[in-house]
Amino acid sequence: MTTTEWAGAAAIVDGPGGYTGIEATPEWAEEVRRLARERNATLLAHNYQLPAIQDIADHVGDSLALSRIAAEAEEDTIVFCGVHFMAETAKILSPNKTVLIPDERAGCSLADSITAEQLREWKAEYPDAVVVSYVNTTAEVKGLTDICCTSSNAVDVVASIDPDREVLFLPDQFLGAHVKRVTGRENMHIWAGECHVHAGINGEELAAQARSHPDADLFVHPECGCATSALYLAGEGFVPDDKVKILSTGGMIDAARETGARQVLVATEVGMLHQLRKAAPGIDFQAVNDRASCPYMKMITPAALLRCLREGKDEVHVEPAVAERARLSVQRMIAIGNPGGGE
Ligand code: SF4
Repeated sequence: MTTTEWAGAAAIVDGPGGYTGIEATPEWAEEVRRLARERNATLLAHNYQLPAIQDIADHVGDSLALSRIAAEAEEDTIVFCGVHFMAETAKILSPNKTVLIPDERAGCSLADSITAEQLREWKAEYPDAVVVSYVNTTAEVKGLTDICCTSSNAVDVVASIDPDREVLFLPDQFLGAHVKRVTGRENMHIWAGECHVHAGINGEELAAQARSHPDADLFVHPECGCATSALYLAGEGFVPDDKVKILSTGGMIDAARETGARQVLVATEVGMLHQLRKAAPGIDFQAVNDRASCPYMKMITPAALLRCLREGKDEVHVEPAVAERARLSVQRMIAIGNPGGGE
């Protein structure tokens, strides 16, 4: 089948919420695979992508794991089905490859909660501080960062810094609070950023769910606004300590395979449920908040992916000097070890 033979390809509609007009049919899947081969492209999908996008991808994972796969891939084109900062990170680690994102309008409210200009001003207030940034940041912000971190290694990264140096931690206030509590570090300043999707998962909802499912395990992603509440509830005996697991997205998949529980409550973006259900089909996974769906992630639609492969758009560019500095901050993170997953 050629592109022109497939009538569905003509129906792509561009709207404010993204590209629509194409269903994820077997014909669509066949056409996507054909175009990917033609472009010598590998398809990467983040855990929060729509199930159809996850299912067609060559690899599914968290942002850092995917960036590493991108760097090692034999193909010279990477199609990154995720949000923009993730595709930028792939470009930073693979400067000689063509990196495409199916819709460059797919942003991230957490990455947008601090601009390079704001970070410059913050650094000017604390000129001797070490800057630690979570991977949900733009390439420009990474270029002003000393060490990046993921949710799995944020504690190790902060603990590796000379205790007498001040630390600026950004942009996620909930991850920052988690790290500050675990390390007990007083000279750590936390940027008041948040992801509006994760912040929408709150402690009351979590407590109510935990009470009504007393035998369930509870998987919590540290970017969630509920991470603090989950730990508090565990301490208060509302949820047994051993039932609460604070995990990165990649860590959730491993824990799903290992848990003995028959039911698991998941406090993160709902797209994660698809991979968890595939990894452990015998377990009943339930979202703590089934409205926690990232609208940016869902902009990578079947129509957007098809358009991307047909037109070679949208290409991700990072200015070489910015990429060079940003790469150093990412490499320092990897050198500290156990970057595991982030979002
Ligand atoms: S879920 Fe939140 S942190 Fe993740 S991409 Fe969406 S807006 Fe950004």
